[in-house]
Amino acid sequence: MKTILAIDIGGSKMLAGLARGEGDEFEIVQTVGEALPTEMTEDGILREIDKLCAQLPLDQIDAVGVTIPGLADERVWIYAPFSGIQNFQIMDALEARFPGKPIAIENDVNACAIAEGIFGACRGVRDFIWLTISNGIGGGIVLDGKIYRGALGFSGEFGHLNVVPDGELCGCGNRGCMEAECAGPGISRYYARLTGSPEFVPASEIARRAEAGEEAALETYRREGRVLGHALANASNILNPSKIIIGGGVSRSWKLFYPTLEESFRKIIFHRANDSILIEPTALGYEAALMGAVALTLQK
Ligand SMILES: [Zn+2]
Repeated sequence: MKTILAIDIGGSKMLAGLARGEGDEFEIVQTVGEALPTEMTEDGILREIDKLCAQLPLDQIDAVGVTIPGLADERVWIYAPFSGIQNFQIMDALEARFPGKPIAIENDVNACAIAEGIFGACRGVRDFIWLTISNGIGGGIVLDGKIYRGALGFSGEFGHLNVVPDGELCGCGNRGCMEAECAGPGISRYYARLTGSPEFVPASEIARRAEAGEEAALETYRREGRVLGHALANASNILNPSKIIIGGGVSRSWKLFYPTLEESFRKIIFHRANDSILIEPTALGYEAALMGAVALTLQK
């Protein structure tokens, strides 16, 4: 049995946990974390890591996996969106804290894709897309069993696929990106447009209203599915994956958007190539990000 320290660094929350297991069977046995915005500076992040680790028994750990938003190579956190982080020598800081332990870092969505391949719905699947939909949208592409990174490491930016010409303003500066239209805040904006109410209603509350039968809420999630299905069909016509896995907070409203996603996806895929693609929610559950961090250490 091995014990792995898993750390998930996010802009809106930071989690740490211990996983125990062996081979492709690992289980998160303890988690600590805060659903508070992390101060996204080098010092702020290291302070938070120290705070979380102080709450865990670390005398027995065999390895450490860390997932980050943005781009990293094996030692350096090169860039994080919407923060000042540039070329953060995070591996030096981690090695000082965990001397002699194997440590792995990776982009959070890529880590989830790797974990899905080891622990989840993509065991033995060589080609798949992993999409996370929460406050933003990120994607990981696994081709022939390996993460596809692209020339500069920025592959899989599904969030910035254009899905609505001249649509909502995206954080990247463009309009109509899938992230601006379909991530949590985009769901809220669309609902506000349908209801004409200026009140900001979180996507999770809109899902609750949809489940209670409210028509504007139901239509908001039907539209979510239509837009996602359209974009994923275009992506599939390029990549020809076996599976598409969707995780992140919005994926918990699967029942509300999946029927229209499937319908719009099937309408425009190139059928000869892509009829057999399966679209499924993540099998990693709510702890996907921590399982991602665990998976990194196994891969290494
Ligand atoms: Zn964008």
